[in-house]
Amino acid sequence: MKCKEAQRLLVPYINGELETKEEDEFVRHVRQCPECYEELEVYATVFAGIRQLDGSEDEIDYRTLVEDSLATTDEDMKDERFLNGYSFFLRTAATVVLCFMIVRCFF
Ligand SMILES: [Zn+2]
Repeated sequence: MKCKEAQRLLVPYINGELETKEEDEFVRHVRQCPECYEELEVYATVFAGIRQLDGSEDEIDYRTLVEDSLATTDEDMKDERFLNGYSFFLRTAATVVLCFMIVRCFF
């Protein structure tokens, strides 16, 4: 399997849509190709992030994640506004990364 082929299979692989034979070949390629392995890691992170933001996976503890940034305030209202903004930022960042990778994959 070539890198270009493997990269087209990244998303279907993460979504569990590959046939057993395809999946075998994909995994074999990724295991011996650091570049594709890295891409898979990025995709997996982005997809996990999107799923978490959509609430279909366990929640990320954003309060812990951004603890330092929140150290200046104890007000819940401010926390919530900040968290919503953070959520929006993450979603936007994930979308940008995805678009970038899709474009890079096809051109
Ligand atoms: Zn490769």
